[in-house]
Amino acid sequence: MNHKRILSLFLIYFFSLSGYAQSRKIISLPDIEGYKTLKCDFHLHTVFSDGTVWPTVRVEEAWGEGLDAIAITDHIEYRPHSKDVVADHNRSFEIASPLARELDILLVRGAEITRNMPPGHINALFIKNANLLDREDVMDALKEARDQGAFLVWNHPGWKAQQPDSTVWFEEHSQLLANNLLQGIEVYNSNKYYPEALAWANEKKLAMFANSDVHGPMNVCEGHRPMTLVFAKSRTEGGIKEALFARRTVVYFDNTLMGKSSLLEPFFHASLKYDKAALKMANGVNKPVKITNQSDIGYELELVQPGVGVDAPESIVLKAHHVTVFNLGGNSDEIAGMKEINLYYAVKNVFTAPGENLLVTLSFLNRQP
Ligand code: ZN
Repeated sequence: MNHKRILSLFLIYFFSLSGYAQSRKIISLPDIEGYKTLKCDFHLHTVFSDGTVWPTVRVEEAWGEGLDAIAITDHIEYRPHSKDVVADHNRSFEIASPLARELDILLVRGAEITRNMPPGHINALFIKNANLLDREDVMDALKEARDQGAFLVWNHPGWKAQQPDSTVWFEEHSQLLANNLLQGIEVYNSNKYYPEALAWANEKKLAMFANSDVHGPMNVCEGHRPMTLVFAKSRTEGGIKEALFARRTVVYFDNTLMGKSSLLEPFFHASLKYDKAALKMANGVNKPVKITNQSDIGYELELVQPGVGVDAPESIVLKAHHVTVFNLGGNSDEIAGMKEINLYYAVKNVFTAPGENLLVTLSFLNRQP
């Protein structure tokens, strides 16, 4: 056998052994000025707590779905498989780590501190040693996490098992905030949206999260899992950590985005490409304009204020990965002299607060200056 043949046999052997999906989905979400948009899921379970999959499977799933980063966050206090899976709290991270490095998935070391409400379930991200979080008193566990440099997230704050009637912010949560023991909150978990959490994130300056909290095999037939979009200076673990502490996150589930307008507005515009040519509108003249949406997100726009001198559509759908053409009609003599035409829309599937849509301005050049 020549060397080439030995090599190719070795490669076939290697790839048939490796279990991960061999095609990786490409998620098309734009970066924004100064930041990379990282697609992350910071809440996952394995057999090392109450999940049913091996830790490397979480890495394979993330790779196949096109994610940048994950955190395995097995429960500290709830380990129903502990008779069969005998290991300490760091083991799931240690097992997943080499494959994550090989596949370039950023793996954040995490754990879920799992208590009754209040304070409920808290994810500790970027910890150094999960074993030290195994403490009798929840405050001791949280302080230990904080001392390890952790970022702490209140998980599924309106989970019916813990808050059956209404979603309450307890005095204990104010104490966590005051003691630097809470920096983030899940606005979306698995398939549930918590509007209260979105309001609290704004009010109390918490980073917003959307996580899968998956326990069994990830089963994405169409669409995508819920994701936390992180706007990071670099695609590194340190970059993610800096961005989380700076609260640069956006919630992404189904075809919906939630976050601060300071992030969502540049993200919206970065998703689109506009015609650069001047329109040269005049009274009574109709002109088509074209917008290309290169992102995975379809934007549903609703006119909030008529533009000056121009008739524009009441609603526009900018379908994902499509070019959308619509007509503008000049309706006054004023239009001929205007340098640009501004249209004001609400984006119906992008939220800055419960029931509040992102407001955007679509600007088109009318006359060369
Ligand atoms: Zn969990």
